[in-house]
Amino acid sequence: MKNLDILRKLLCAAVAAAMALTLTSCVMPLDETKDFTSQDTGLITEDSSPADFSAVSVAYAPDGSTVPHNPAYAPSAAAASKTVVISGNPVNVRAGAGTKYAKIGRTSKGKKYMLLDTKKDSSGKKWYKIQYSSSKKGWVISTLAYIEGEKQSNPTKKNTGKVAYLTFDDGPSINTMKILDILDKYNVKATFFVVYHKNMTKQYKAIVDRGHTIALHSYTHDYSKIYKSEKGYYADLNKIHDYVEKTTGVDSHIIRFPGGSSNTVSNKYNKGIMKKLIASVRKNGYYYHDWNVSSGDADGRNRKASLLLQNIKKGTGKKKVINVLMHDTGKSKMTTVEALPSIIEYLKKQGYSFEALTEDSVLIQHRK
Ligand SMILES: [Zn+2]
Repeated sequence: MKNLDILRKLLCAAVAAAMALTLTSCVMPLDETKDFTSQDTGLITEDSSPADFSAVSVAYAPDGSTVPHNPAYAPSAAAASKTVVISGNPVNVRAGAGTKYAKIGRTSKGKKYMLLDTKKDSSGKKWYKIQYSSSKKGWVISTLAYIEGEKQSNPTKKNTGKVAYLTFDDGPSINTMKILDILDKYNVKATFFVVYHKNMTKQYKAIVDRGHTIALHSYTHDYSKIYKSEKGYYADLNKIHDYVEKTTGVDSHIIRFPGGSSNTVSNKYNKGIMKKLIASVRKNGYYYHDWNVSSGDADGRNRKASLLLQNIKKGTGKKKVINVLMHDTGKSKMTTVEALPSIIEYLKKQGYSFEALTEDSVLIQHRK
């Protein structure tokens, strides 16, 4: 059967070459016709990894020669003429459709790329395969990009519903394990923007071991040091980065500026430094997150749990993506722990799913 197929194809190609007929006029199995069509678009490039050729099929060029071809590289008919525009900044290009795949490149805001394919990852998020340089292809998450000409509605809403990023600053503390237990109980993942604390190795590790994101806040949290100069900021950031990496093995590039990117306290030490830091952290490969919902637990010591919940209800409103600011700072924030179950229950009821921040998450930022 196989030999007959090959014979027929060869015959077909020979006829086409000799009589200058189009190949499609020959009777060929449907899938081969499809191969030929995509071959025509010239999308095979030299960067195909050997693994990509595991499903190599043979396509026939108009001159009758054969070309190895991987159907996986053909853009789907729907994707063929579409353009992906990058709306977020920065955007990772990954080797596959999912955050578990290696970062192989970066795109920038406003750039346009040819759409080659779309796919959903295991959590149901949509990814776009793009041609991001003349010879390179990769995947970007659809929440940070959109297809030109299509209505740019809230992409997160469209693909994944409402998302809540719970974030805890300034820990770890004596509350960390209690917070982790509550998160486990509700099967919720969160993000901890940590600072340096002595004798808390167990807590730093538990954050990671129990599936949450450990992110960087500051080593000292001392405004006068970190906002005195860019050099001072990076000396501090590198210190907490290296400490977290040494303690947990995580090479984190997710950060939150002490006071947020919109803080004005830094002007006291170096007027205008935030603008410079915002530009340089991006250049240095860091992703900074502020918040758009605050629990208000930093407004004083142990504010009433009911008040914290009230603040979150008010702040959440009808927002589709929320980054909720809370603190993990021990004795003065016991009520944050007390309020946490009711906060999670409320947000669940409002239809939010909970996600820990990744380098592909939506960036909630006060200043860009
Ligand atoms: Zn802080």
